[in-house]
Amino acid sequence: MITAPLRFQLSPVIVSYMLVVHGLAALAFFLPWPPYALPVALAVYVSIGLGTTVGLHRLLCHRAFACPRWVEYALVTVAMLTAQGSPLLWAANHRLHHAKADADGDVHSPVRGFWYAHMGWILNEASTEEDGWRTWCRDMADDGYYHWLLRYRIAPQVLGVLFVGLTFGWRTVPAYFFLPVVCWMQSTYAVNSVCHAAFGHRVHDTRDLSRNVWWVSVLALGEGWHNNHHAFPASARHGWVWWQWDPGWLFIRALQALGLAWDVRLPSRLRSGPAA
Ligand SMILES: [Zn+2]
Ligand SMILES: [Zn+2]
Repeated sequence: MITAPLRFQLSPVIVSYMLVVHGLAALAFFLPWPPYALPVALAVYVSIGLGTTVGLHRLLCHRAFACPRWVEYALVTVAMLTAQGSPLLWAANHRLHHAKADADGDVHSPVRGFWYAHMGWILNEASTEEDGWRTWCRDMADDGYYHWLLRYRIAPQVLGVLFVGLTFGWRTVPAYFFLPVVCWMQSTYAVNSVCHAAFGHRVHDTRDLSRNVWWVSVLALGEGWHNNHHAFPASARHGWVWWQWDPGWLFIRALQALGLAWDVRLPSRLRSGPAA
């Protein structure tokens, strides 16, 4: 239940940033396609996607498994190619979302409107507290790298653009970099908007409006099983039955097989045997 009035303060910096990155992604359709544009863009999309769902979300926000620090930094750095507000801001907003989902204090509930939940809250300077990490991310409060990323949150994206431009030529940057980056940003936004709106199904009686939406899981690499996720946020696995597509979980299994992930957390019903 949301009763508090919305404070809205449009951020000119974020609006400009969004226009630039979406414009550069659209430019891909007006330039000649570089070689192997589709597989390269898909590989970039999946890499950023796994960095986000596995690194930023399941690992950093929920500590759904443990891994070496270098694996954590690698995943989070790849996720930051989208410049999604730095890990400390991301985790603070997300933990707040779980604590207050669809109630007063939730930063991106579609109770405020579908488009507000999708992108409006990002453009709203008043939605996010810059030092929210002091309350919500005490476990990361002493991490020098995450504080550096808070200050220079655009750095991984700038380095990504420089790498692609200098290696493959500047004309390839829209197709190889900005198109997959923007597509992934939209897939992430859909988890907040679509998976708390009137799409998909509710299988768990959680105290929020979360829903399982299969096509969001296809786009967002398993994030669409959002009602499962709200029912057991610490689970490393979001798709709980065999047909629930969850590449993020498969990636964690692969890390586990390589000895790079341990203490993997699952709901008790999944721990006791094959999911049914
Ligand atoms: Zn949610
Ligand atoms: Zn979560």
